[in-house]
Amino acid sequence: MTVELVFVGTELLLGNIVNTNARYLSEKCALLGLPVYYQTVVGDNRERMAAVIRAALARADLVILNGGLGPTEDDITKDVCAEVMGFPMKEDAAVRARLEEWYRQRNRTDIPESNWRQALVPEGAVVFPNENGTAPGLALCRDGKTAILLPGPPNELYPMMEDQVCPYLRSRGEGAIRSQMIKICGYGESKVEEMLLDLIDGQSNPTLATYAKTKEVHLRVTARAATDDEAKKLLKPVVKEIRKRFGEAVYTTDEKETLEEVVVRLLNKYDLTVTTAESCTGGLLAGRLVNVPGASEVFREGYITYSNKAKRKILGVNKATLRKHGAVSPQTAKEMAIGGVFAADADACVAVTGIAGPDGGTKEKPVGLVYLACCLKDNVTVEECRFRGNREKIREQSVVQALDLLRRCILKSCKKD
Ligand code: ATP
Ligand code: MG
Repeated sequence: MTVELVFVGTELLLGNIVNTNARYLSEKCALLGLPVYYQTVVGDNRERMAAVIRAALARADLVILNGGLGPTEDDITKDVCAEVMGFPMKEDAAVRARLEEWYRQRNRTDIPESNWRQALVPEGAVVFPNENGTAPGLALCRDGKTAILLPGPPNELYPMMEDQVCPYLRSRGEGAIRSQMIKICGYGESKVEEMLLDLIDGQSNPTLATYAKTKEVHLRVTARAATDDEAKKLLKPVVKEIRKRFGEAVYTTDEKETLEEVVVRLLNKYDLTVTTAESCTGGLLAGRLVNVPGASEVFREGYITYSNKAKRKILGVNKATLRKHGAVSPQTAKEMAIGGVFAADADACVAVTGIAGPDGGTKEKPVGLVYLACCLKDNVTVEECRFRGNREKIREQSVVQALDLLRRCILKSCKKD
């Protein structure tokens, strides 16, 4: 079953709003194992919309139309689609009753006549009630083709999709689809692909897709089978093999878990507190940790030591170290990490010092050179990184790498205990 997504709205064509629903619906289709071959955006114009719908129905089995379902004059998606597919409109008693209830709850009495248009439904359509708005979603089927019409506002679209449309599509699909996320830190996307080439090339089920994030690669393994159990069985050995190849670089297989959540979880697990000593990241690292609910259990204070003076005063970095090696050096990073542990009386400290640019780089110490250090249980690990990109990118990469360094240090030192 191939899919085409059609987004309706002149405001999309004018650039007044960003088509975030495209990202959302594309991802949902991918998760359902439905291949999307085309995406189209069309304005609120009858002729052009009819032409787009005709073309989409000719080349895809399933057309999802999004937007233009509301009560106003320019909301014409339902009319146009019903006309193209040859369905007459009929008032749906259940939709009408829901609308009346919706307005009654809001004490609305002066309802414009046009609003009742929303109770008109193409004959034989499947109706997806809208829990967060007035326009219901619809599914129309004819000659082996299906059109699904969904409301534009994301707060109406997302729950309708999750609760009603996804189950509907799953029930119509052939068999089950299951996918597993694997999140990797420390390898670039091309390296990950290279290490998985045999799996990517050799197999069509499960399929493997890589998504490059800042200093991370997310892998999605998707299997299809007649039943959910069989799909699970197909996934298992592939996921196991990938985990084996990347070892501890796999920081989670939980779709929703972030790197900082894993770090906070590990700190909690081993009963450790951490502090941060940041120069070029200026608090970003502490910010990412504090983003995690419950971070207060493991993080009490952090330091932004931007100047040399601050590094000396707060972290006790030696004047001689700074003079001899400079602020951006492995020696300084190391002393910052040790100093942080003492200053905060914490079990661990992650330190970051680097050149984020655009100025300040030299031939020996170019923009993007960052030293990270992690002090944990009398061990200090120092890492040199050479990042590319603008100031913002370099700082962002530094934070991810620092979180991962802390994660690896905890695993190394605590797993054997
Ligand atoms: P309404 O009942 O609000 O009129 P509708 O189904 O007719 O809903 P539209 O009129 O097309 O939808 O869009 C309403 C609002 O929904 C837009 O102003 C915009 O905020 C949001 N929206 C619509 N389409 C998209 C999209 N593709 N991506 C993100 N937001 C969208
Ligand atoms: Mg509208």
